[in-house]
Amino acid sequence: MNRRRIIVYWLLLLAPTACIGVFGFRLLALERERMAARSRAAMLTRAQTLADTLEIAVTDVKGELLREVRRIPREDRVEALIRWERSNPLVRNTFVWAPGGDGLVHPARDRPSDSEDRGFIARFDALFSGRVGWGGHGAERDAPAPSAGAAAPAAVKGRRWYGQQPARFQRRELLDLARVGNVQQPAQAEPPAAAEGGWIPWFAENRLHLLGWTRERPDGPVYGLELELMAVLSRLVTAFPAAPEDGCTLALLDGAGRVMHQTGDTDALAEREPVLDVSLATSLPHWRLAVYCAAGAPAGAARAFTLLAVLLLAILIAAILSGGMLLTLQARRSYVDARRKTSFVSNVSHELKTPLTSIRMYAELLSEGRVKGEEKARRYLEVIAEESRRLTRLVNNVLDFSRLEQRRKTYRPEELDAAAFVTGIVEDHRLRMAATGLDAVVEGAGQPAWVRTDRDALEQALLNLVDNALKYAAEGKQLCVGVSRRGGWIDIRVSDRGPGVARAQRARIFEKFHRVDDSLTAGKPGSGLGLSIARSLLRDQGGDVFYEPRAGGGSTFVIRLPWRKDEA
Ligand code: ADP
Repeated sequence: MNRRRIIVYWLLLLAPTACIGVFGFRLLALERERMAARSRAAMLTRAQTLADTLEIAVTDVKGELLREVRRIPREDRVEALIRWERSNPLVRNTFVWAPGGDGLVHPARDRPSDSEDRGFIARFDALFSGRVGWGGHGAERDAPAPSAGAAAPAAVKGRRWYGQQPARFQRRELLDLARVGNVQQPAQAEPPAAAEGGWIPWFAENRLHLLGWTRERPDGPVYGLELELMAVLSRLVTAFPAAPEDGCTLALLDGAGRVMHQTGDTDALAEREPVLDVSLATSLPHWRLAVYCAAGAPAGAARAFTLLAVLLLAILIAAILSGGMLLTLQARRSYVDARRKTSFVSNVSHELKTPLTSIRMYAELLSEGRVKGEEKARRYLEVIAEESRRLTRLVNNVLDFSRLEQRRKTYRPEELDAAAFVTGIVEDHRLRMAATGLDAVVEGAGQPAWVRTDRDALEQALLNLVDNALKYAAEGKQLCVGVSRRGGWIDIRVSDRGPGVARAQRARIFEKFHRVDDSLTAGKPGSGLGLSIARSLLRDQGGDVFYEPRAGGGSTFVIRLPWRKDEA
């Protein structure tokens, strides 16, 4: 096929394939970005919801603790507060403060029971010494009584998020915990309607402390508690997702930027700027919930999608290219086949022409009466007969080839003694061989070698080998045809002392139309069909023909047929 045309076809195939590849990968990149953005947005929504829930839980627990303080009866209040403080894990310290005089009644300023009391007094000294008023700056007024699970803000409702169910449970658990240690039943000690109070966020030693206070009258004693913030948080952090997707990290940061809790990939925290920063100021001033994502961390689903899409795209491109390759191969094969057929037609015509010319020449001589002597005329007639037989063999070859190609070849197998059969053929052609200088010897003729085969097909195969020896090995002067039995096979070996066949060509000479392209075949007529036809004819009958180099130089072609034991 025209090389330039193949290149053009390939360009036509490669250009759209390259376009598909480029656009495919571009679309993939876009889709991947879109999926990553969507997954980040979903994650941000979840983080926002988690922040809302944390706020609600802390606000609720603060409200509940303050109500518990108010339920403590007036008589015996200090002892009750101490008992409550000792038994309730959410209460760090309790206090009673009276206006005027010393101020702090419990814990006693001059007799603090331990270092915790001392620290507490020192922390809130500005309050206890009256320098800062109750309900002053930053104080949070008391919230209306919430019922557990009922105070979800609009932001939380209707959203799906990973911590929702556990958080609801933790909130209820926290509210129950807030009541631990207070023996008073709510019905027995409802707080007076005029009671005021609230929570004061207090920053000491660069940390947030929350102090809840209440009083029944504006001039009455103030009592309350300091919240054990860590105890509350340790229960709330379980609402955090175990491992946020997408290589991101969820971190709870206090006012000084310290990480109080985090879930997810620790590497992500190295990112300086969080992708989301939600303030928890309402319940935990200066605290925030931050989401950090490692740069370029792709979403899990996006990564799987990209992998799958890249795989599919690669398969598509590979399919297009291998399809093109196969088509090119097929086109090449068809081209080579077409060329072989063309050369076959010219070779066959050439082969037919040679005997026809001889026949015509001798026939004309005889018909014009220009041949003197009977002996000469008889020789000319023999030449005509021999050339006609050669023509017949040639035409048979061509006909057999076409029948074999179309799978229309039929056989009439019969039992025959290969040794006798081979001897007969050699004798029939002895003169022809002698004319080219070949002396034919038959070996193993005395031993019957029974085979079941089509007589004509075997003759055709054998004569193709003998013709080749005449064409290519006449200089060797010797042709040996041996018949022998080897196991269950009968071998007919046609050996010459010609140049032999090069190793690389030994299998190829049995391909149809194949002729070794060398000086040996250059001057000899031939179509490259003889051996391929011989092999097809023999294989169709359970036999084969193959080449063996002959020891001492030359070729041996072995016809192998199954041995008929019964006949033996
Ligand atoms: P053809 O003889 O028409 O070319 P064949 O199929 O009979 O076709 O033979 C194929 C090739 O095998 C020949 O072209 C020749 O090169 C090689 N060949 C066949 N027989 C012999 C032989 N006896 N000695 C050397 N080469 C041979």
